[in-house]
Amino acid sequence: MRFNRFLATVLLVVGPWGSDIAWGDPPGLAAVVEGVQGICSDGLSGSIYLDTTDWVPIAAASSGSMPSLVAAARQYGSGRVAILGHDGLVISSSVDTARFMRQLMGWLNVSAGNQARYSSGHAEWIRGTGLQPLAASLQAGGVTLQSLPAPITAEGLRSVSVLIVGNAWSDLSQSEIVAIRDWVWSGGGLLLPGLGWSWEDPSRGRSVENYPMAALAAQFGARWLTTAISGTAVTVSGSAVFDRFYPAVQRVTVESALAWLAGAHSVAGDSLPATLRGDAALVRKFVEAHQLLAAASKSLPSDHPHRQQMAVGLESLFDSAGSFYRRDAARDPSAQSAAAWLRDRAWRSWWDALDYDSATIQRAVQVGAFRADRAQLLVERRVLLLDNSALAPNQVALIESHLDQIPWGLSGLRAISARDSLGTAPDGCTLDGRAYSVNIVSYPIGAVRENQFPAEVPASFADVYSTVLSHELGHIIDASGIDRTPELRAQKQGLIARAGDLQSNYLRSMLSQGFFTQNPQEFFASICNQWFTSGSRTLDVALARLGAGKREPLEQFLFISDVFSAGSDELPLFTANTTGTLTSTPARVQRDDAGRIRRMFARGLDLRIVRDGTGAIVGAERTAGSVADLDLSGLVDFGDVVIVLLKFGPCAGCETDLDGNGMVDFGDVVMVLLEFGEGA
Ligand SMILES: [Zn+2]
Repeated sequence: MRFNRFLATVLLVVGPWGSDIAWGDPPGLAAVVEGVQGICSDGLSGSIYLDTTDWVPIAAASSGSMPSLVAAARQYGSGRVAILGHDGLVISSSVDTARFMRQLMGWLNVSAGNQARYSSGHAEWIRGTGLQPLAASLQAGGVTLQSLPAPITAEGLRSVSVLIVGNAWSDLSQSEIVAIRDWVWSGGGLLLPGLGWSWEDPSRGRSVENYPMAALAAQFGARWLTTAISGTAVTVSGSAVFDRFYPAVQRVTVESALAWLAGAHSVAGDSLPATLRGDAALVRKFVEAHQLLAAASKSLPSDHPHRQQMAVGLESLFDSAGSFYRRDAARDPSAQSAAAWLRDRAWRSWWDALDYDSATIQRAVQVGAFRADRAQLLVERRVLLLDNSALAPNQVALIESHLDQIPWGLSGLRAISARDSLGTAPDGCTLDGRAYSVNIVSYPIGAVRENQFPAEVPASFADVYSTVLSHELGHIIDASGIDRTPELRAQKQGLIARAGDLQSNYLRSMLSQGFFTQNPQEFFASICNQWFTSGSRTLDVALARLGAGKREPLEQFLFISDVFSAGSDELPLFTANTTGTLTSTPARVQRDDAGRIRRMFARGLDLRIVRDGTGAIVGAERTAGSVADLDLSGLVDFGDVVIVLLKFGPCAGCETDLDGNGMVDFGDVVMVLLEFGEGA
C-alpha cells in the first residue's frame, strides 16, 4: 500500500529537537524497516549527515555516542538514493541486518527490474565475494547482482535497476558521477555505503574534503562525518547495534540543533546549571544537540554552508544564554559538571566551525567574558583553553611560556583541554574537534614531581603539570610536523623498527617491553618528557647506553635534535626548573656529508660522534668544550675576541666575563687567546 503523499505533508514529528516537519516522506519506507529490531555493521560504524530536508533518516541508535544516524534515504527525481554510515552493513548477517539490506534493496528498486550492480574499478571495499550473501538473497527474489566495471556510463546503467557504490577509495570521474546522477533522476536506485572516519588521515593528506565517496553523495545532499559510533547499550562482539528506526528517528542538522538549544535555554533560564544536575534526560538532550554541532564542526567540508550557520548561531546563543556560556568563572566540577562540560563543548564547536579573523575572535572573547589570560591565548596564539576556567594563573602562564619556548611544529595547535578540571563527563559528551588538540592535567604546579630518567643517570625530578604539557605538545610536533614530513617520518619509523621491543634500546626505557612497537605514537612524545626536563641529561642517558653497547638511544637523541634544528645548524637545548618553567640554551650542530649530526656544541658541551663506513655509530665523546667559544662557531677564534671587545665594560655574571672579575676587559681577551684554536 502506497503512503499517502498528501497526508505526509502534514505529518508532524515531535521529538527531542522540538518540532520538525517531514515534508513528504518517500513512499514505502516503512517496508524497509518492517520486522527489523536491530542492525549492526560488525565494525565501528560512522555517522552520516544530511545537508537537506529531502532526506529521511531511517536508522540510528537510542543510546551511546552521538550523533548516531547511520542510514537515510530520499527520493531523487523518479529514482531513490540511500546512504549508509558503514559499508559493513551491506555484508553483515548480525541481528536483522541482512533482512534490512534485502528490504532496502527492494525499496531502491523503483523500476522493479531484475538487474542490480556493484561498481568496481574505484578501489571499492565492498565488491565481489563479500557480496555473495546479499547476492544470494536478491537472487531468491529474482534479482541478479553483478559487477559493473569502471568506467560507469549512461549506456552501462541503462538496464540496471539498483547500483551499489561500496566505499570507493579512488575517485569516480566527473562523467561517471554525472551519469549516475542522471540515471537516478530518471528512475535508478543508488546505494551509497561509506565510512568517513576510516578515510580520514591528515598525515597522508586524506580528509573529508577528498573522500572519493563524498563527491558522489554531495550530488544528493548527504555526506559521511568522521565521527564513530560507540557505547550503545546493545552490541554484537563490541560493535554498535542500531535500534531506532523510521519513523522514530529524528532529523538532526546544525539548524535543528541550534533551534532546539535556543528554545531549551529560554525555557530553562539562568537556573539551568542547577536543573541539569537532577535531570539526566535533559542532560542527554543538551549533549545530543551539542554533539551534533561538534561532529559537524569537526567534519563538514570547510566550505559547507552549515559551518557559517553554526558560527553565527552559536555566537548568538552565547549572547542570549550568556549566563550559561560566559567563561569568567569556574563551575563546581562535582555539582555542576554537566554545565561545565557543555559550556566548553559549545566553545570548542564554535572555535572549529570556521577560521576566524581577529575582529571576530576579539568580539567572541568579549561575548564569552573570557578571563584575560585565556583571551590572550585565543587572540594571539589561536589556542582555545578548555579548562572550565579553572586552571590557576601560573598554570595558564606556563602554557604561554611553553608555547614561547617551543615554537617548532606547534602552528597547527588549536586547543588545549584539561578534562580533569571539568568533573565527570556527561554520557557521550566530548571536547574533541579539528586537528590538532591535546589534553593536559590540572595538578597545581609543584604538587606532583616525577623522575623522568632511568637509573643509569642521576634522577631529575620534574613538575608533572609541566611534563604532561611538554609530552602533549610533543604529540603535536609529532603529528603536525614529523608525520607530515616524509623524511622525518621515515626516520622515526626506522628508529622504532631498529630498537624493536627491547626497552633498553630506548631513551625512555622505564616502560614495559614492546611498549613503543605497540604504541609508536608515544615514541616521540615520550622522548619529550626527558628532552624538555633536561636536554643534557637526556644525552647522558644516550651515552651511558652507548657505553653498554647500545647505539639506538643516541640515534634517538640525534633525531630529536634534528627535529628541533629544523634543517638549520641551530637548536635549543632545554632545561626545566622545579616549577616547570623551561629555559633554553642555544646549541649548534655540524653535519657530515650524509647530513647526519657529527658534532653538537653549546655552553659547556662539545659532543662528537664517530661513525663507521656503514654509518653506524661506533663512538661518541662528550667534553665540556671551551667557554671561550663565545660565538658557538665550534672553534675559539677571532670572532670570539671581537665579541669580548664589543662587550668591554662592567658586566657582572655575563658569559663574556671569562675570568669572572665583574668586568669585561683585557684579562678576558687574554683568556680567549690562551684557548685560541680550541675545538678544531
Ligand atoms: Zn602520549
